[in-house]
Amino acid sequence: MFGYESFRGPQADIIGHVAGGGDALVLMPTGGGKSLCYQIPALVRPGVGVVISPLIALMQDQVDALKALGVRAGFLNSTQDLDERRLVEQEFVAGEIDLLYLAPEALGTGGVQRLLDRGKIALFAIDEAHCVAQWGHDFRPDYLNLSMLHERWPDVPRIALTATATEATRQEIAQRLRLTEARHFVASFDRPNIQYRIVPKASPQKQLLDLLRTEHAGDAGIVYCLSRANVEKTAEFLTANGVAALPYHAGLDARTRARNQSRFLREDGLVMCATIAFGMGIDKPDVRFVAHLDLPKSVEGYYQETGRAGRDGLPSTAWLAYGLQDVVQQRRLIDTSEGDQRHRRNLAAHLDAMLALCETVECRRVRLLAYFGQTGKACGNCDTCMSPPESWDGTIAAQKFLSTVYRLKSERNQKFGVGQSVDILLGRRTDKVAQFRHDELSVFGIGDDLSEAEWRAVVRQLLAQQLLAVEGEFNTLVLTEASGEVLGRRREVMLRKEPARPARAARTPKAAAVELSPEAAPVFEKLRAWRGATAKEQGVPAYVIFHDATL
Ligand code: ADP
Ligand code: MG
Ligand code: ZN
Repeated sequence: MFGYESFRGPQADIIGHVAGGGDALVLMPTGGGKSLCYQIPALVRPGVGVVISPLIALMQDQVDALKALGVRAGFLNSTQDLDERRLVEQEFVAGEIDLLYLAPEALGTGGVQRLLDRGKIALFAIDEAHCVAQWGHDFRPDYLNLSMLHERWPDVPRIALTATATEATRQEIAQRLRLTEARHFVASFDRPNIQYRIVPKASPQKQLLDLLRTEHAGDAGIVYCLSRANVEKTAEFLTANGVAALPYHAGLDARTRARNQSRFLREDGLVMCATIAFGMGIDKPDVRFVAHLDLPKSVEGYYQETGRAGRDGLPSTAWLAYGLQDVVQQRRLIDTSEGDQRHRRNLAAHLDAMLALCETVECRRVRLLAYFGQTGKACGNCDTCMSPPESWDGTIAAQKFLSTVYRLKSERNQKFGVGQSVDILLGRRTDKVAQFRHDELSVFGIGDDLSEAEWRAVVRQLLAQQLLAVEGEFNTLVLTEASGEVLGRRREVMLRKEPARPARAARTPKAAAVELSPEAAPVFEKLRAWRGATAKEQGVPAYVIFHDATL
């Protein structure tokens, strides 16, 4: 019927289990072939397989594709007129179809519930089941009602399917859908044909254009941006530079969205610039790249979005540009998000996992799989495998930066953003420095051993490691509890050196090392012991930072 040579991964096991009447929870990556896992049992079992899917816009396509294969299928959703609905309802009751696609909200209505009672149901398939996870990025309130399927039709087997794979999400799905007896099937989440790359963000649109011109000329791809405005700007920028690009976000009217989506699916080599509103369920096999111009909020989101590349198994690129402002912005979004403390903590935990993936010096694929509880070998193909980044002891750099923030607060009762703090460290005599007399601070100029870009990388990682925080509408920097551990020399800070960073010659210290006289040596030792400590802690009106052991 479907024309495939063989089953893939756990498909055969799942189909056997569900066709035999068992419940199942299926975790399989995007493009893994989840649909077959409920379609075949629906054909085998007497009655109609009822498929619940949030993807109303794709139901027509899915049903048409099935009909083309000779599978009798229909759907019911808000896009149909009454006559079309009636026809499908009759087919369902008469058992003239094998698959019926429904939107989750439809099940909440008495009419549809009564309709289902009038026919024979072969199974319930709950597609995109992670939509039931309340803290997830695709949460749909209507999915919570699906627990009633079991109460109302206890004898009908249920199969829930998702490509979101953490243990926590899996448990949440099983619990909320009352799938207590379900067998869990977990496929490998590795997507070997996707190359993962996360690069430091400088001028993201230009970097993207460079990527497209050098590696993906004429290829179809998706570019994800956080804001609608950025989606529009990026699409315009690409178009102006000769790349055929379309925008997609929830702010566009439904017709434009539908037109852009169908053009992307049907035409070759279009680039879709979109918010995360785009992509779930899109089955375009030859998406050659997925680019993120802004940081995804979670590893689950990143995995889902990048997973839309390379469904055909051919080499594809997952490219993410990530920078300091991303961390600032995301932390800020969490601080100002609605919901309670627990909700915010959950968002923060997801962001932290994403940041850890960005800042890792290990194989990206290994880290990604580890996040989903799976193991893998270093892939040799991702950016960190291709040019392994070094890690470096950034304790002193961290101390310098944190002490700048500390001094501004303690001595001046001032708070500033990243830019001003970096200017102070670099000893730049800007107007703002003059205005606030920041050149009088003892930390002024003590950071000229690093470049501005390097400082920003340091700050980004301090924020990522929560050794520093941002607050207020101006994103001013504040110390965290953990900052004190660094300043108090109780904690070392390991940082990632960007591989793109040009090799630098060994630095000459600000002043030459000196031979210490017998009198000076003990003083030196004492000062050294204070290194990184705050003046307050030591009870002295001074703060000392040694750069290594040179004075
Ligand atoms: P998912 O829902 O897991 O993202 P789909 O069910 O949409 O994946 O299937 C992804 C692609 O894989 C589809 O193009 C489908 O035709 C194809 N496919 C599914 N199972 C097989 C198989 N056993 N052999 C070959 N191709 C398959
Ligand atoms: Mg699917
Ligand atoms: Zn790797």
